[in-house]
Amino acid sequence: MGFLEYAPAPESRSILQLKDSYGLFIGGEFVEGRGGAFDTISPADESRIASIAIGSDEDVDAAVAAARQAHTKVWSKMSGRDRGKYLFRIARLVQERARELAVAESLDNGKPIRESRDVDVPLVAAWFFYYAGWADKLDHAGVGANPQSLGVAGQVIPWNFPLLMLAWKVAPALAAGNTVVLKPAETTSLTALIFAEILQQADLPAGVVNIVTGAGATGASLVRHPDVNKVAFTGSTGVGRDIAKAVAGTGKSLTLELGGKAANIVFDDAPIEQAVEGIVNGIFFNQGHVCCAGSRLLVQESIHDEVIDRLKTRLSTLRLGDPLDKNTDIGAINSAAQLARIRELSDIGEAEGAERWTAECEIPEQGFWFAPTIFTGVETSHRIAREEVFGPVLSVLTFRTPDEAVAKANNTPYGLSAGIWSDKGSRILAVADRLRAGVVWANTFNRFDPSSPFGGYKESGYGREGGKQGLAAYLKGASA
Ligand code: NAD
Repeated sequence: MGFLEYAPAPESRSILQLKDSYGLFIGGEFVEGRGGAFDTISPADESRIASIAIGSDEDVDAAVAAARQAHTKVWSKMSGRDRGKYLFRIARLVQERARELAVAESLDNGKPIRESRDVDVPLVAAWFFYYAGWADKLDHAGVGANPQSLGVAGQVIPWNFPLLMLAWKVAPALAAGNTVVLKPAETTSLTALIFAEILQQADLPAGVVNIVTGAGATGASLVRHPDVNKVAFTGSTGVGRDIAKAVAGTGKSLTLELGGKAANIVFDDAPIEQAVEGIVNGIFFNQGHVCCAGSRLLVQESIHDEVIDRLKTRLSTLRLGDPLDKNTDIGAINSAAQLARIRELSDIGEAEGAERWTAECEIPEQGFWFAPTIFTGVETSHRIAREEVFGPVLSVLTFRTPDEAVAKANNTPYGLSAGIWSDKGSRILAVADRLRAGVVWANTFNRFDPSSPFGGYKESGYGREGGKQGLAAYLKGASA
C-alpha cells in the first residue's frame, strides 16, 4: 500500500440473515415455485448467495388471483388514510433495515456500498414516504373527481437499481389503491425478497403485493395475464416493444420506462471543476448501469482538451473493487452477459475509429469488471454514440454553437434525460427548452426526487413515474 492510499474498509455481511433458498411471495407467504430454481451470485466474486425460485405460468396465475382477491375484498375498500398508514409503516421499516438492505443490494448487484447506502436505500424510503402522503389525498391531486384504482398491476423491473425500481413501481400503485404482482430481474431478486419480509413485518394484508421471481419467460407470462389491468415495465427498448405489442388492444394500461443515450452538454462558460464531477457522476455512477446516464459528453470545442485532461486525472483517482468496501467508487458489472456487451460495443467503438482511453486500475481476478473508459473523437454515426452501452464508457463529441449542441443532443432514437453545464441561466433555459428529453438537469446530473416526474420521449418509452403524474398512471382515466 502506497502513501496516502486507503486501507480496506469493508462493510460486514454479518448483518444479513439470508436464507439458503427463497420461494415466491404469494398471498402474504413464501411458497415454492413450480418452475424450478437458479442461484443468484455476487458479481464481485461469482460466489453463490442463495437459490431463487422460478415462477411458472401457474405461479403467475396464483399471484394474479391473490392480487385480484386482495384488491376486491380489502385494498380497494380500505380508506386512503389506512392505505397511507401501511405505506408509512413500510417506509419506516425500510429505514430501520437500511443497512441490511444496502449490504444485500451491493452483494447481489455489485454496486458500491457508498451508493446503495447513500442513494438507493434512502430514495426507496423517500418514495414510500412521498406516496404514503398522497394515499388519502387522491381527490386533491388534480387528476379528476373521485379517482379510482385500476385493479391489479403487473410490474417488471431491471437489475440496475433493484430495490429502487421496486419502490418506484410499488409505492404509487398501492397509494392509488391497486394491488401488485412484481417480477424482479433475474440477477437481482434478493432485496425484493427481503422487502417481502418487510411487508410481512408491516402486516400488509395478504395478496396486496406479490413477488414472483424468474427470468424473461416469467415476466412475459405476467404482462400477458388476462386479469392484469395495468402493466408497468422498466428495462430495455427491445423487451418494451415486445410488451407494447402484447398489451395492444387488451385494454390494459401501460407505462414503459426504457433505455437512454443522454447528452451531457458542457459549454465553455461552465464551472469546469463542477462540470468534471458532474460528468463523472453522470456516467460512472453505478458503473454506468443507469438508463439516464450521461453517456454522450457534448463538450464545446474550445474547452475540449482541458475538460478531457481534467477528466482523465479525476478518473485516475477512482477506486475500483470490492462493492462492500466503503472506499469503493466503481463496483462490479452486474453480470457476465452485461460485461460481454460492454466489451463488444467498446471494441466496435475502437474499430470505428474513436480513440479509447482507460483508467489504469487493478482488476480483481474473480468477478465481472470493466475499468472506466473514455472514447474521444466520436462521431454521431458511431455505434458508441447511438447505442446504449449501459456500462462505464463515455463517448465524447464536440460542438461549436448552442444550435449544434441541441442538434447533436437530439440526434438519437432515445429521449430520456440530458444535462447542461453553463454559467448563464438564460442559456440553460433556452437550451433545455429545445432538448427532447424527459428530464434535463442543469449544473448537476443523476438527481432523483419522488416529487419529480421521470420518463422518456421516443424509444425511451412513455408514461411518467414519480410525482402526481406517477400517481395518475395508476388511476382510471386520470392524467396529470
Ligand atoms: P431487460 O429488458 O432485458 O430486462 C428487464 C426486465 O424484463 C427483467 O426483469 C427481465 O427478466 C424482464 N424480461 C425480459 N424479457 C421479457 C419479456 N419478453 N417479457 C416481459 N419481461 C421480460 O433489460 P435489463 O437488461 O434488465 O435492463 C437494462 C435496460 O433497462 C437498459 O436498456 C436500461 O436503459 C433500461 N432501464 C430503463 C430505466 C428507465 O427508467 N427508463 C431504468 C432502468 C433500466
